Amino acid sequence: MTRVLSVASECAPFIKTGGLADVVGALPVALARQGCDMRTLIPGYPAVIAALDGSAVLEADLPDLFGGAARLLRQRLAGIDLMVLDAPHLYDRPGAIYTAENRRDHADNPERFAALSWAAAHIGAEGVPDWRPDVLHLHDWQAGLAPVYLRDMGAADRVATVLTIHNIAYHGLAPAEKLTALGLSVVDFTPGGFEYYNQIGALKAGIVFSDCVTTVSPTYAHELMTPAFGMGLDGVLRARPDGVTGILNGIDTEAWDPASDPAIAARYSAPSGKRANREALQKELGLPTGEGPLCVVISRLTGQKGLDLLQEALPALIERGGRLALLGSGDEELEHAWRDAARHPCVSVTIGYDEALARRMIAGGDAILVPSRFEPCGLTQLYGLRYGTIPLVALTGGLADTVIPANDAALKAGCSTGIQFNPIDSHTLACALVEMTELFADKRLWSKLQRNAMRHPVGWDRSAARYAALYRDLATSA
Ligand code: ADP
Repeated sequence: MTRVLSVASECAPFIKTGGLADVVGALPVALARQGCDMRTLIPGYPAVIAALDGSAVLEADLPDLFGGAARLLRQRLAGIDLMVLDAPHLYDRPGAIYTAENRRDHADNPERFAALSWAAAHIGAEGVPDWRPDVLHLHDWQAGLAPVYLRDMGAADRVATVLTIHNIAYHGLAPAEKLTALGLSVVDFTPGGFEYYNQIGALKAGIVFSDCVTTVSPTYAHELMTPAFGMGLDGVLRARPDGVTGILNGIDTEAWDPASDPAIAARYSAPSGKRANREALQKELGLPTGEGPLCVVISRLTGQKGLDLLQEALPALIERGGRLALLGSGDEELEHAWRDAARHPCVSVTIGYDEALARRMIAGGDAILVPSRFEPCGLTQLYGLRYGTIPLVALTGGLADTVIPANDAALKAGCSTGIQFNPIDSHTLACALVEMTELFADKRLWSKLQRNAMRHPVGWDRSAARYAALYRDLATSA
């Protein structure tokens, strides 16, 4: 049985800001079915420490971890064998997990996540009582330095490393002056090592020093190797002889099931069951009833997500009787712009983070919009498929891999599940919104799309088998 330590800065249901948490939380359950013995290491933020109870086991004392004492705690919770890095000097503070109350990054983020990476390498090199991983599965820049520490501990031959890039936009940069504070060697501070334009790049370290690099969809794996999407790291990725492997994300189909979801107004297993949820949602959000589709967006508000394009394209939807409900938070400017847009009676905007509302919106919406400029995988379109809420998505990354567009050929073959648009600009998005209202007006066709969507496989089985095979290969060659 392959023993794997999954290392991440977020894990649902304990702590979440985006899709990374869903994936890290779902992997252990999916991988257990594949015969993997997976533990998951995350930082001991206040919410995580609060989730532990008296039965948490002390696995190791780390007397001086980047400026303070730390402990490794372990407890099985929500089907996850959780290892928690309890380091109050790094994690016990107000604010969000990456940013302080003033919305700026915590100044010591390099130390906070170097500590997570160091602890992962330490578990790899030394093990904990009765357990030592064969493979470290590292997620994003926050775990990117682990292979460097592992090599410095002399254990790189014994423990394999795989880095998964969930979003290459976040490099985890730190000033060169932090080299000593982070316990890194100047020898690696070169273009062939983790130096990135005179800064320390944690994601680059992961790319250069891991045994294998994966990302969360096949299309994003191709895109990442191009200057248009690689965000300055495409050359480093191309330099890897084995390139980047794309393994598509799934969703937890038990936790996200309209037939049993306790958060929604009326549970359903066929598209007709959505009507009651739609009515409840319209009422809750104060939206008028209308001829056109009720569209929903659940998203971080950042430039990546293309929601500025949606604002420009919105009249095309509203003029045809459509309505929009948006739930999100993020950039101040975008929050402001969407609050303004909500002055229109057909637009509802909720600024904040609210999973129960997200579920009611997915259940009650007719369509879910994801107009991202780039999207490694995207999860909300998968929730949309599962709930019979037709995805309208940009043709990029995982959105391209998960939605079968309603073009003539696919409609004829009866397998369409949504609408895609390309190029990614406001004009083309407006055309796609018009196309959607036309499809929506054809009730038989729309309900066929909904049935196709609800049948589309969005679970973890296939991808979990691929991860399991990858771990096995890495473990035997380590
Ligand atoms: P990303 O990871 O880039 O944020 P994904 O689509 O992969 O995008 O995952 C986003 C996840 O976070 C989904 O589970 C989505 O439902 C959730 N989410 C995003 N914003 C909110 C919000 N404001 N309230 C509730 N859930 C949200």
